[in-house]
Amino acid sequence: MENKLRTLYTLQLIDNNLDEIEDMKGDLPGEVRKLEENIAALQEQLSLLEETMRGAFSLRNNADSEIISLREKIEKYKSQQFQVRNNKEYDALTREMDQAAETIARLEKEMSALENKATIARTDIETGKKELEESQAQLEEKKAELAEVSKNTEEEELKFKHEREKVVVRIAKADLALYERIRKAKNGRAVVPIKRGSCGGCYTAVPPQKVHELKQNKRLYTCERCGRILVSTEIAETSTALV
Ligand SMILES: [Zn+2]
Repeated sequence: MENKLRTLYTLQLIDNNLDEIEDMKGDLPGEVRKLEENIAALQEQLSLLEETMRGAFSLRNNADSEIISLREKIEKYKSQQFQVRNNKEYDALTREMDQAAETIARLEKEMSALENKATIARTDIETGKKELEESQAQLEEKKAELAEVSKNTEEEELKFKHEREKVVVRIAKADLALYERIRKAKNGRAVVPIKRGSCGGCYTAVPPQKVHELKQNKRLYTCERCGRILVSTEIAETSTALV
């Protein structure tokens, strides 16, 4: 039992060190991730806008060529009207010309709408590209900061992670699960020593009888108030994060 308590406390010490390293990195990993997500979303948005712009310009060009060919047709009909032999043929050509003129009017309206759509997309693309450049610059900056912090802490982090692996294999699954559960609920601190007769986590006084039993390191006790695992001062004083 004493070994079990000691091992759990050792794990806590290792995790305290790892937590401290994470604190030094601050929110940098989160900021980097957020910027990367933003950039991906912006790129997606830009490619959609470019598609919209290209599509609108291409439809506008199609309408433009159609108008040109309709105008040519109208000219052809006009010259044909001089050669017709009767009114019926003349009227038929007039109808064709009217129809072509109507189509031209419709296409011109469409062209102007497409032009508008493409222009709006182009403005949005320009704005989006600026935003993208800014985000990319920010990302580079944050990445460099993170790399700097990581470089300084990497060795320590690896050392503690390695120690953690060595310690974890010595802990029963149920105990480890209990540890992780309390750790998660109690801001990282699952195992605390008794300090002057009180829980080292929430500072609630521990009954003298329990303090006495705790000193013998024979049972796993948890604090009645905060639920953290309690260990004796002796275990706390003789344990170290490096085993
Ligand atoms: Zn407590």
